[in-house]
Amino acid sequence: MSRVRKVHVKSFGCQMNVYDSHRMADTLAPAGFSETAHPEDADLVILNTCHIREKAVEKVYSEIGRMRVLKEAAAAQGRSIMIAVAGCVAQAESEEIVRRASAVDLVVGSQNYHRLPEMIARAANGAKIVDTEFPVEDKFEALAAPQRAAIAKRGISAFVTVQEGCDKFCTFCVVPYTRGAEVSRPVKQIVAEVERLAEAGVREVTLIGQNVNAYHGLGEDGAPSSLGKLLRRLAEVVGIVRLRYTTSHPRDMDDDLIAAHGKLAALMPYVHLPVQSGSDRMLAAMNRKHTRQDYLSVIAALRAARSDLAFSSDFIVGFPGETEDDFQDTLTLVDEVGFAGAYSFMYSPRPGTPAAEMADQVPAGVKAERLQRLQAAITWHQRAFNAASAGRNLDVLLEKPGKLPGQLVGRSPYLQAVQVMAPRSLIGQIAPVTVTEVGSNSLFGALAEETPAPQLAEAGA
Ligand code: SAM
Ligand code: SF4
Repeated sequence: MSRVRKVHVKSFGCQMNVYDSHRMADTLAPAGFSETAHPEDADLVILNTCHIREKAVEKVYSEIGRMRVLKEAAAAQGRSIMIAVAGCVAQAESEEIVRRASAVDLVVGSQNYHRLPEMIARAANGAKIVDTEFPVEDKFEALAAPQRAAIAKRGISAFVTVQEGCDKFCTFCVVPYTRGAEVSRPVKQIVAEVERLAEAGVREVTLIGQNVNAYHGLGEDGAPSSLGKLLRRLAEVVGIVRLRYTTSHPRDMDDDLIAAHGKLAALMPYVHLPVQSGSDRMLAAMNRKHTRQDYLSVIAALRAARSDLAFSSDFIVGFPGETEDDFQDTLTLVDEVGFAGAYSFMYSPRPGTPAAEMADQVPAGVKAERLQRLQAAITWHQRAFNAASAGRNLDVLLEKPGKLPGQLVGRSPYLQAVQVMAPRSLIGQIAPVTVTEVGSNSLFGALAEETPAPQLAEAGA
């Protein structure tokens, strides 16, 4: 019988990396690996890296340095730790990583991690393994399914990648280079994964993809499916009570998906829709392929389908050539939409992308100052949105125990964290909660009268 080995997977960056990290652990389980939260106890450490913004590569090398210390300490005790680098930095840097960091045993690209068991076996014989070519086979078909215990440990809310890669080529972004061309998984494969999650206790699924609403996977009827159609199919899976999706591109928000927001009770009324800038000049330079007005029209159509929809977004400040007037257009857009939340970033030149070569790079000090002003505007709207929840009854999906004894933490339909005193038997249930207090990071509430008996909530179409 083979010895149980331990793997520690450290995830950097977006939800897609979190999902990939889980699937790496799943695929190593049949090869005899169990997960550990402690790298010093591991036989294999995987750094699942992100390349989206500045200093990503330097951060990875300093993390490798920390792991090298553990590796040397283990070797002094006659034990070996294998170090693997995965994800977008692995994809972008490839062989350079083993050249620069001799402690690294293997480098695996974002489309190749289904081959990890075989790569580890080869690396155990002392070979340095680098596998970053985009493969012809479907990674998802080859990955081992998650085990019930692993799903249960990860909680009642799960991510499922339905689409990968991107063909949009925004001039600032590395994703089309690190994740490759856009590919959608077939509906049947996704349904099987979601059914498995639901059987193991998952109640909420967030469909993820770099450009998730460009989804066009093969449907069960043999025709391409849209994201709206996929969501309707997944709402039929018994046990799944909430559906979300992220990240969308404004251009791919089609009528079918917009209509799904008005019709599908399981689809939560919170949409993350990155805009990046409120200035048409900047949007054109970014190759976003939409204008400010296009964006506002999509928001209006979504609100017409469901009036209580709330929005979040991504913004970049200090893109090459951005003037104070352009930046003002971003601030007015924030006020016009009234986002419930948003992420904002200083533009970071990514090697190999067109914007990195553009003239008129904005000085770091100007970027920092604009970011501060933008974040103040976003925070103002976020606080206003949360303050409007006071006194309201919100349906909260209760996820896990809170910090205080007897407390549970859950999420409102608008993804707000809600703390409430409630019995553990309600974990996995949707309970109406009256919001009594609005904190800076979460809402506090009390169970409202009509709390359901602890039982499986119905699938909600
Ligand atoms: N696909 C999504 C979209 O179309 O907006 C987002 C993908 S990216 C992983 C997440 C966010 O990172 C982007 O929306 C953008 O705001 C930010 N981002 C990407 N490249 C960046 C760069 N070079 N500098 C600063 N922020 C960047
Ligand atoms: Fe990057 Fe998103 Fe643009 Fe694709 S659509 S290039 S992932 S920012």
